[in-house]
Amino acid sequence: MDKFGFTISKGRQINYDQNDRRIYNYIIENEPSFRNCIACGGCSGSCSAGNFTRFSLRELNILINRGENDLPRTNLKKCMLCGKCTLICPRGVNTRNVVFLAKQAFKRFDSYAF
Ligand code: SF4
Ligand code: SF4
Repeated sequence: MDKFGFTISKGRQINYDQNDRRIYNYIIENEPSFRNCIACGGCSGSCSAGNFTRFSLRELNILINRGENDLPRTNLKKCMLCGKCTLICPRGVNTRNVVFLAKQAFKRFDSYAF
């Protein structure tokens, strides 16, 4: 395949039925504003943790929404709960509370100790 100068990428279909959406459901149950996220990235642009590490709240929001929890499970530790992103969000998402609830949900459903 390589002799043509390209390869065929593996399919990357998302099967929502197989993903674990308990973390997302727990967050929207307790912080409905999370539904309003449009993944604009404003929160990531203002995030102090994101300045120094490969941490992006926008990315975590998208992954949690899809039920792809592996990266959020480890990366949430980097958030300092400073709340800067909450001031920036144009959709009025209480992002600080979203992170707090996500940590709580991982602890509850995933035995994930912070
Ligand atoms: S700033 Fe608000 S709307 Fe934009 S990605 Fe962050 S949480 Fe979502
Ligand atoms: S609360 Fe967390 S995600 Fe938001 S700006 Fe502060 S460190 Fe970044």
